[in-house]
Amino acid sequence: MRAVVIEQPGTVSVQDVPDPIPGPGDLVVAVRGAGICGTDIHLLDGELPYDRYPIVPGHEFYGEVVDVAGDIDRARIGRLVTVDPNMPCGACAECRRGRANLCERYEALGVTTDGAAAELVRVPAGLAYDLPADVSDVGAVLTEPLACAIHGFDGLPRRPQDRYLVYGAGTMGLMMGLLAADMTSEPVTVIEPNPSRRALAESFGMRAVSSPEEVDPDERWESVIDCTGVVEAIEDGLGRVRRGGVFQCFGVTETDAMVKLRPFDIYRNEITVIGSMAVHNSFDRAHRLAQVWGDEKLAPLVTHGYALDDYAEAIRTFRDGAGLKIAIRPGGLA
Ligand SMILES: [Zn+2]
Ligand SMILES: [Zn+2]
Repeated sequence: MRAVVIEQPGTVSVQDVPDPIPGPGDLVVAVRGAGICGTDIHLLDGELPYDRYPIVPGHEFYGEVVDVAGDIDRARIGRLVTVDPNMPCGACAECRRGRANLCERYEALGVTTDGAAAELVRVPAGLAYDLPADVSDVGAVLTEPLACAIHGFDGLPRRPQDRYLVYGAGTMGLMMGLLAADMTSEPVTVIEPNPSRRALAESFGMRAVSSPEEVDPDERWESVIDCTGVVEAIEDGLGRVRRGGVFQCFGVTETDAMVKLRPFDIYRNEITVIGSMAVHNSFDRAHRLAQVWGDEKLAPLVTHGYALDDYAEAIRTFRDGAGLKIAIRPGGLA
C-alpha cells in the first residue's frame, strides 16, 4: 500500500510499504478521510516526547473495514467506521482512577503507532464505531476533534443563560462555539483576526470580533475558552472571566510558554482555571453528534482535500494557516 512515512523528524515521504496484517481482534480499515492537525505537525517536527520513528501519522479518520482477524465478526467487513485513536493502558494509576486520557503509558494510532495517512490502517476492533449508511463524510472526518471539544465542554459548567467567550475561530474554536451555542440562550462571542473565519462564525450565529479591543472592557463571561494557545490571548482572556467563572486552556501553547496572571483576582473572584487533554469518554457522543450535525453544520469546517501522494503540499497548506480542517483522501478525491 501507499503510506505517508515520517522516517525521522523533518523527513517525510509517501512510500510503498507492506499492507498491515490484522492481529487477533484487529480490523483493517481502508481510509477514506484523515484530518491533519497540530499533533501531526509536532510529530513531523520531532516535538512530541516520543521516539518511535519511522511512523505513519494520522489519528483523525474514518474508512471502510476491509479485513478482520481472530474472533471479530466478519459481517463488519464492508462497514464504514470512525476510529478513536486513543489506546490508554488501563493499568496505570491514572487509568485506574478513571482518568485514562492522562494515561502514563499513552499510546495512540498515528501518534505512537502507525496511523491513517495511508491507504490501509490496522485498528483494534473495539476502537471502531460503526457509521450510518447515509454517513456524513465531514462528520466522520471531524469525529475525533469533536470528541476533544466535547471533553473540553465536559469541564465547563452548563447553565442555560451562561455567556461564553472563545478565543480563536479555527476548527476547534468553532466547534467549541457550536457546542456553546447549543447550551445557552445568549450569543457566543468569538475573537478571531482572520476575516473569513469570522464570517463563518457569524454564519453560525456567533458574535465575532477581530480583536479584544473591540470588546467592552467591562464585559465579563461565565466561561472563557482559549482555543489559540497564544500567550497574549490567554492573558487577555483571564481578565474577562466573570466572578465565579471558568477559564479554560483548550489551545496548546508552546511547552515552555509562561503567562502573567494575578493570583489575587483568582482568589477574590473565585476564578477556576482548567485544562482539557484530548478525548475522554467523549468519542461515542462525538460519533453520534457529528452525524446529527452532519453536513449542515460541519461541511464548512473541512476546507481542503488532498490525495495521499500530495501530503507534503497538504502540510504546506496547513502551515500557511489557509482554510480550516485539511483532509487527506487515500481512497481518492470525491
Ligand atoms: Zn488531532
Ligand atoms: Zn494508563
